[in-house]
Amino acid sequence: MFLPIYLYGHPILREQTQDITADYPQLKELIANMYETMYESDGVGLAAPQIGKAIRLLVIDGTPVADTFPECEGLKRTFINAKIEKFDGKEVSEVEGCLSIPGISESVTRPSSIVVSYVDEEFQPHREEFHGYAARIIQHEYDHLEGTLFTDRVSPFRKKIIKRKLAKIEEGFTVSRYPYVSASKRSK
Ligand SMILES: [Zn+2]
Repeated sequence: MFLPIYLYGHPILREQTQDITADYPQLKELIANMYETMYESDGVGLAAPQIGKAIRLLVIDGTPVADTFPECEGLKRTFINAKIEKFDGKEVSEVEGCLSIPGISESVTRPSSIVVSYVDEEFQPHREEFHGYAARIIQHEYDHLEGTLFTDRVSPFRKKIIKRKLAKIEEGFTVSRYPYVSASKRSK
């Protein structure tokens, strides 16, 4: 089932998220729906706040960008209660976009390597290192769990440029082609 995407300006995207336990209601179904929503909307990652839940759950699948970024080959993961333990490597800039901020893509600088501890959908613990664009996708989604959006991380100059576009999304005028919930309650 496609879950409507909560758009920029909606307060859920700024909320504190909570860890979950294995008895979280209909968790398997929720995860399956998040993957479906991500694939249908051509995303490579989706965090729970983007579908209206303030919990520490995110899914990623970097396969669509693996031609350009080989480190994303086979990068399909469900991260529950993730914690980035270490940021490492050099600072790298790449263009990012976000399903919650349709029509805007901007260059964001992030560290090139991270170490993440998390549990998977079976609540098995993992500690894993990611590099390059794989590390970027995870950092972008992880930011959602912390109430941070990629547009918070662009340069002050670019922030000025995109301000009006962001205001439009907030008002519910958007190029989004998938079902969404906007701050103005103007939903599709
Ligand atoms: Zn995003």
